[in-house]
Parts: sequence; C-alpha cells; structure tokens
Amino acid sequence: MQPQGRQAVTVLGATGSIGTSTLDVIRRHPERYRVHALTAHRSREALFEQCRLYTPEIAVLGTETDAAWLRQRLADAGLATQVRAGTQALIDVARDNDAGIVMAAIVGAAGLLPTLAAVEAGKRVLLANKEALVMSGALFMEAVARSGATLLPIDSEHNAIYQCLPIEHRGGLARHGVSQLLLTASGGPFRGWSAERIARVTPEQACAHPNWTMGRKISVDSATLMNKGLELIEACWLFDASPEQIQVVVHPQSVIHSMVAYHDGSVIAQLGNPDMRTPIAYGLAWPERIDAGVKPLDLFAVARLDFDVPDEDTFPCLRLAREAMKAGGTAPAILNAANEIAVEAFLGGRLSFPGIGELVARVLDRQAVTSANTLEGILEANRQVRHLTRQLLDVKT
Ligand code: NAD
Ligand code: MG
Repeated sequence: MQPQGRQAVTVLGATGSIGTSTLDVIRRHPERYRVHALTAHRSREALFEQCRLYTPEIAVLGTETDAAWLRQRLADAGLATQVRAGTQALIDVARDNDAGIVMAAIVGAAGLLPTLAAVEAGKRVLLANKEALVMSGALFMEAVARSGATLLPIDSEHNAIYQCLPIEHRGGLARHGVSQLLLTASGGPFRGWSAERIARVTPEQACAHPNWTMGRKISVDSATLMNKGLELIEACWLFDASPEQIQVVVHPQSVIHSMVAYHDGSVIAQLGNPDMRTPIAYGLAWPERIDAGVKPLDLFAVARLDFDVPDEDTFPCLRLAREAMKAGGTAPAILNAANEIAVEAFLGGRLSFPGIGELVARVLDRQAVTSANTLEGILEANRQVRHLTRQLLDVKT
C-alpha cells in the first residue's frame, strides 16, 4: 500500500522531453506525488528504466511485442508493474480512477483520444499535447466544462498567460478587462535568415533550438513557426479569445514566456529561465507553488530583452494557422494533420524545409472543411488528410 495523502500521477508520453521533465519534478517531491502509470510508444528501454526508478502500477507501450519484452525485463528485475499495449490501453490508463492527475505529453494527433479520455474522466489534466486541443478545440473545451476537469496549460506561453490572468477567467477576456494576449515566440533557429539560406537547412539544424531542448517534431515546428501557429489556436480555445485578440511577439531571449495586456494599460508578464519544469511544477501543484529544480532567473546575466514582429513571409506557417482558426470547423485539424506528415517527411529527408509550409498550404486548399462537432468527423478528417498529404508528397518526390 502507498502512504495516504500522496497524489497519483499518470504520465502519458513519459519518455519524451516533457515526460522526463515531469518525472524530474515528481522525483523532487516524494511526499506529494507517486507515479500511477507511465506510457511510451516505442522507447521500451527508457520505459524500463523509468519503471525501475518510479515503480508505477501500470506501464503502456505501443505494441504487444514491446510489451512482452518489458514484462520479461520487469519480471527479471522483480518488479510488479503490469504492462499493457495499444491505444485502448492508453485510453484506459488516462481515465483510470486510481490517478487524479494526468500529464498529457504524447506528441501529435496520437494523443487526442487518451487526452480526451482524461478530460472526460474529470482529471486534473496537464496539457502539453497541444495538437489534441488544436484538432478538437470546441469538443475538447465542452468536455472540460461538462466533466469538471481542471485543465492546466503546460505549454510555457499558455502557462504564462494563465498565471497573468485572474484565477477565475472564464466567460471571455473582455469580462476581465483584458485587451490582448501577447504570445511570445523565440523566432526559432532561423530567425532573420534569408529565404535562400532557409531552403537548404537540414533536420539537424532545425532540431537545434537556441533556447529549449525539445522533441524533434516540436523543434521543427518551432523553426517553421508552425508551433506558434498551433499555440495561437491553442490560446484561442484555452482563453476563449479570437485570433485578433492575440498578438505574436518575437522575443529571442525566451525569458518572458507571454503577457496579458489589460484595458487600463497594464501589461502583466511571466518571466523565468526557459525550463519546462516551471510550468510542469505549476500544473502539478496549482494553486500552490513547489520547487521545480529550476535555476533562479538572473536578470543581470540576461541584461536585455528584445522584441520584434514575426516574419510571416519567410515563415508562412503562422499565417496558415491563423487562417485555419478563422475558417473554423475541421480546418485546424487539417492543418495539424498535414503538418505532422510534412514534418515527418522533412525529418526523413524527403521534403525541404520550405516544403513544409508549401505542402500544408496545398492540403488546406484541397481538403474541404466540415463542421468539427463530432469526434468521428475530426478523426475522419485527420485520416483523410494524412492520406492526401502522403499522396501529394509522392507526386512531388
Ligand atoms: P517527445 O517526442 O520528446 O516525446 C513524445 C512522447 O510521446 C514519448 O514518450 C513517445 O514515446 C510518445 N509517443 C510518440 N508517439 C506516440 C504514439 N503514436 N502513441 C503513443 N505515444 C507516443 O515530445 P515532447 O517534446 O516531449 O512533446 C510532447 C508534447 O508536448 C507535444 O505535443 C509538444 O508540442 C508539447 N510541448 C513540448 C514542449 C517541450 O519543451 N518539449 C513544450 C511545449 C509543449
Ligand atoms: Mg510553447
């Protein structure tokens, strides 16, 4: 039996960048948290190591073959963690009664069903998996309202905005005197580069972010500014804002994580070192504050803060995302699915870096937007767009 009073946490996507940072924060507070379930897709070795360290009750992997391997390793090590496999297992652990907190840190559309399951079960959901909300915005937020789930944004910008808003901020921003959300963007590793130089960038260059160490997909998204586009959509849903109420501000130092402007002229910002353990610790302990292991911010070392407008000509993905949000319905899900396939192709050396935005734009032109009021409709659009994007890619290469 576990001691009373510790909160049980499930980490979906435990072996990723956000997952390992989450476990690092949990490890610092053994009196507050215990790990209920950990999931990974293919990283069975990493998941085994995490099972040894955190002794969860359940571990989930993508395939039965990997699950069988993990079962054997755990048995050899004398550990009692149960091992399951596949999407249904992910959904089951996400809504399992035994955990009150779920970190949603799977990357991409694969996280939608488990994240929604955690929401529908009324958990405290720490949302890193922005793609889930981008795909299903209205349905997702309705599920939060219906189930009484506590949704806490982990994306650093949204976490910052959340911290700069009044605790009770439902019902639209205007009601709370907010005039604008200022979403900061580092500008990525190619900020200020010419279109000619950008045409030749490699996956390694795109994955070397100047300020943050992240998974490969979000690193590429940061470099194309699609990440900021997805975040703009994410902010619209989380804070009940229109795209016009959100201003993207390029801020290369990534010290201000975002800001909220009020009608009286006040602008409230949240600052800190660029370390995801800050928003993760905030989400775990909210409304309390706990140590996150993050170095204190040294403003003298930072010395200066710069701001600039985003270059939407060289980086069209931000504009595409804003337009998709304005178009509504399945348009954001279409944008997201096309982007996932395009990024995969770029990482596999089958598409150039500017090809990502071009391909997403072509898919948005061709795929009809429908209403996004059923999960089936959204999943169907996701499937169709993946197929269409792969077809366009084959024609191209
Ligand atoms: P990552 O690639 O490092 O990790 C992804 C995790 O999801 C891994 O545990 C992997 O095993 C699992 N996974 C991958 N594909 C899966 C699938 N098909 N089914 C089930 N599990 C799967 O990614 P990350 O950088 O940790 O990002 C995770 C999410 O958090 C993304 O949505 C990203 O946009 C968001 N996010 C990340 C950061 C960051 O600093 N890394 C910041 C803000 C938001
Ligand atoms: Mg972010």
